[in-house]
Amino acid sequence: MLRAYKYRIYPTDEQKVLFAKTFGCCRFVYNWALNLRIETYRSDKRTVPYKEIQDCMVNELKAEHDWLKEVNSQSLLYSLRNLDTAYTNFFRNTRAVGFPKFKSRKSRQSFLCPQHCRVDFERGTITIPKAKDIPAVLHRKFRGAVKTVTVSMTPAGRYFASVLVDTSIQELQAAEPQEKTTVGIDLGVKSLVVCSDGRTFENTKNLQRSLHRLAMLQKRLSRKQKGSANRDKARVKIARLQEHISNCRKDNLHKITHTLTHDSQVRTICMEDLNVKGMQRNHHLARSVVDASFGMFLTMLEYKCRWYGVNLIKIDRFAPSSKTCGKCGHIYKGLKLSERSWTCPECGTHHDRDFNAACNIKEFGLKALPTERGKVKPVDCPLLDDRPRVLKSNGRMKQEKRGLLQSEAHAYRRG
Ligand SMILES: [Zn+2]
Repeated sequence: MLRAYKYRIYPTDEQKVLFAKTFGCCRFVYNWALNLRIETYRSDKRTVPYKEIQDCMVNELKAEHDWLKEVNSQSLLYSLRNLDTAYTNFFRNTRAVGFPKFKSRKSRQSFLCPQHCRVDFERGTITIPKAKDIPAVLHRKFRGAVKTVTVSMTPAGRYFASVLVDTSIQELQAAEPQEKTTVGIDLGVKSLVVCSDGRTFENTKNLQRSLHRLAMLQKRLSRKQKGSANRDKARVKIARLQEHISNCRKDNLHKITHTLTHDSQVRTICMEDLNVKGMQRNHHLARSVVDASFGMFLTMLEYKCRWYGVNLIKIDRFAPSSKTCGKCGHIYKGLKLSERSWTCPECGTHHDRDFNAACNIKEFGLKALPTERGKVKPVDCPLLDDRPRVLKSNGRMKQEKRGLLQSEAHAYRRG
């Protein structure tokens, strides 16, 4: 199984210069290739194959620009590969994946070394081609062969090395889902996760807590003269805060997904198949959805479930999980998003909205046939108007769409 280990590195001044060069060259080559593909398509209406781009880079571009020879040539080839992957992803699903963008020197920088990399745990260093013994904080060990090392620099100026390792760890096989060891989870903005066994995980709302300071720093930045050293200092301050927010967020999500997947009493997790992009398109919810980062939660939960042998069952996002009474099965149509709890008009049970939803999700998940489980991939359904085809074709779409944007409840959770 391939696993990536990310370490903070503290390159020497000399190594920093080399990194800066490599970042620049990789970015230059990437942007050059992207431009070449766009221009060729515009003039000749044809796609340039990867091999042709590579030959052109090695033979012509390198002759033209001597400084490209100063850096690891494999890293340059790899940035061409990355562009090719970006194109493939784009054509795989043009609705979900955006067209490849030009890389900017202001955003996160990175390059990859596919060969001759070494991690020395005794001395606490990482070695890559042309940069020997980069001081690193190797806070965790691994066993296995090093495949690649990706060096990156964040906008705040911190350096990291992500080491891809071919470990001998095997993925655990998941057992058949059983009622006893199944837990349903409901994601929400208020509490991030509510489980059907009564546990809740809070949303730390990291962005919201730092919003005031972020706004202040951004105002300060906007008053600095463009291109000045002071402006750059202000930019770094913002970048550091943003990194801090994102670190807090990741920390919380890792803790939650770890707890969920390392519970011996939980072998199956049922959850709603979320339309994260759709939710982000709703202006009322966008910020809190981004801050809660459901997308990242899902990614983490997916891979951790795979690693640790936990079944992950995704139920249809249109299933009425919130409005169904868990006791008698009555569907309460009038439930609004603002109602945090409700009483069933049929049997009189008082429900906590999220807990009831989590219990229903568990029920639905267990009832779903093995073939239906996890069939829907959330990342592949990005649009708000991805409702059944019938609705799209008969001219009611626009009306429907408007209704959707207006009501939070719909876009947020159709349940
Ligand atoms: Zn009821």
